[in-house]
Amino acid sequence: MSEAGLEQKYIREAFDTNWVVPLGPNVDGFEKDLEEYVNGISGAPALTRRVVALSSGTAAVHLGLLCCGVGPGDEVLVQSFTFCASTHPITYLGARPVMVDSEPDTWNMDPELLEKAILDRIAKTGRPPKAIVPVALYGMPYQADKLMETAEKYGIPVVEDAAEGFGSKYNGQVLGTFGRFGVLSFNGNKMITTSGGGALICPDEERWQKVMWYATQARESYPYYQHEAIGYNYRMSNICAGIGRGQMTVLEQHLAHHRHVQALYEQLLADVPGVTVHRQPAGGPYASNYWLCTIMLDPALRVKGQENAYKTIVQGAVGGAAGVIHRAASATTDCQPNDNVEALRVALDRADVEARPLWKPMHKQPVYKDAVACLRPCRLFGEESPSVSEALFKVGLCLPSGPYVSDEDVRYIVDCIKASII
Ligand SMILES: *Cc1c(COP(=O)(O)O)cnc(C)c1O
Repeated sequence: MSEAGLEQKYIREAFDTNWVVPLGPNVDGFEKDLEEYVNGISGAPALTRRVVALSSGTAAVHLGLLCCGVGPGDEVLVQSFTFCASTHPITYLGARPVMVDSEPDTWNMDPELLEKAILDRIAKTGRPPKAIVPVALYGMPYQADKLMETAEKYGIPVVEDAAEGFGSKYNGQVLGTFGRFGVLSFNGNKMITTSGGGALICPDEERWQKVMWYATQARESYPYYQHEAIGYNYRMSNICAGIGRGQMTVLEQHLAHHRHVQALYEQLLADVPGVTVHRQPAGGPYASNYWLCTIMLDPALRVKGQENAYKTIVQGAVGGAAGVIHRAASATTDCQPNDNVEALRVALDRADVEARPLWKPMHKQPVYKDAVACLRPCRLFGEESPSVSEALFKVGLCLPSGPYVSDEDVRYIVDCIKASII
């Protein structure tokens, strides 16, 4: 049966059996599939993690932090180089994010900086941060062993944000199973999709029960509604889980495809001066899912039209809703990709190729301007920068790599890149 066929079978079953609700056989089945997958380690006894399917990855971050005891006034150490879903839930809980910079090899949380940040926060606030959130940016594994070692040394729980890193492994072990909790996302653009959804990987039965309880409005077991804590309506719909069950059957295919596309970009861009494809450190414990392929442009590289970069204000539709427009306040900000990167993005856009800047570091976001940040100054392409993540943000671009990107597409995209370079 084709991929869509299996998904439609599970969805039809949900309707036929009248399980059109945020629980049911597809949710149970999807959780079981996920548990089997995340618990497998090559050449080692299986883990015993439990999984709760949720309405989004953001909800998973939120509940993971909540179940680490994060509350008002607490601090949480989080990778600055990430999507806002890693940091926003910290503020939902009334806690404060402390942004930790990346190291240049994986682009993820710098283990040395993590320890420095912990010591700094203990010295300045008198108590350790409540949780640590490393992120598998673009699917690349973080240095899991070093980060966990440091976290354990200070007794701080880790919530791994593996939303972009589903299927990535470190030393043969699936990301999301190293820390106390692990976050997965099944949003439309992620490694596999349930249209929208996420999951929280839990370390044991007790935490699994607790997360499940919080995800269903924290209802006490009485014949009537009785509430002794604040809960959330975060459970995954049985319809979405049906899509997830179908998607699990093609996960390995998706992983193979993303890795193939990455290898092709590496090969075709190898001889283009000034363009570097980001890749995992060779020969080590890393097995990235290569969710997105990313390149860096040398600031000295000249791209056609770069003198006109950022001349017009961008109008973006909000939430995909027709007519709801949120106009940017200005054409430029004080931290943005270099002109040659923007010019290449525009050139690709004109050629019907959607390329995107790297995620703008959270410590450079106006909404987090008051957050503490632990940064690692660096030199990249001969230029000084106050932080690794900011330096990378200015030179980086994400290239298409989804399941429908063919070899021919990759060749076309690389040809467009070459044609844009002066
Ligand atoms: C996508 C994503 C999430 C959560 O995603 P949802 O869209 O809420 O499912 C969390 N963290 C990172 C880094 C992400 O990219």
